[in-house]
Formats: sequence, C-alpha cells, structure tokens
Amino acid sequence: MTCYPIPENHGMWWLTTSPGWRRLHAVPGDTLTVEEHRNQVDYAEPNIRAAACGRELPFVYPGMFSRFSMPRCAHCCRALNIAQGRGSPVNEAAEKRLADSLEKP
Ligand SMILES: [Zn+2]
Repeated sequence: MTCYPIPENHGMWWLTTSPGWRRLHAVPGDTLTVEEHRNQVDYAEPNIRAAACGRELPFVYPGMFSRFSMPRCAHCCRALNIAQGRGSPVNEAAEKRLADSLEKP
C-alpha cells in the first residue's frame, strides 16, 4: 500500500493534491527525493511537481485509506499505459501475487 516510487508502482510516486484529495496522480520518482517527501509530511507543505498527466500541482502524500481506495488519475494511467483503478498500483501487484500463490497446489 505504499505510494513510494518502487517498481510495482512503475517508478512513480502516487500522490494527491493538497486542496482536492480526489485523485492519485503519478509523479516521476526522480523528480521528488525521499527527503523532500519527508519534509512535506513533517511540515505539511505540498511539493509542487509535474505529474505524468502533464499537470503541475501541489502534491501531498495520501493517507492510508486513500492509498488503498482513491481513484488513480485516468490521464496519468493513460500516459503510463497502465489500467485505471483505485489505490496505488502496488496493491494490485500484491493481490495478484496472493492469488497466484493460492492457485498453486
Ligand atoms: Zn494525473
């Protein structure tokens, strides 16, 4: 359920916008450092970055429930050529791993 830019998240941060809290946008991993991310969390100051959909927005790290259930930005998904869905992509990777392990005898 992490929104960090790990491979299962396609190397993207999955962040929401400070005033909106409506969508998870994909922010390229190399445009935001972990230290900048931690400062955002500690001081509640959004990081202004360009998302994969081309919009430059003030981003904050989503809360736990949002990381599971907030809809991903359709334009970001299209730009990354991944399926639309809810929560960060790593959740689907984890569900698939679990389903695959249950199917094995
Ligand atoms: Zn987007």
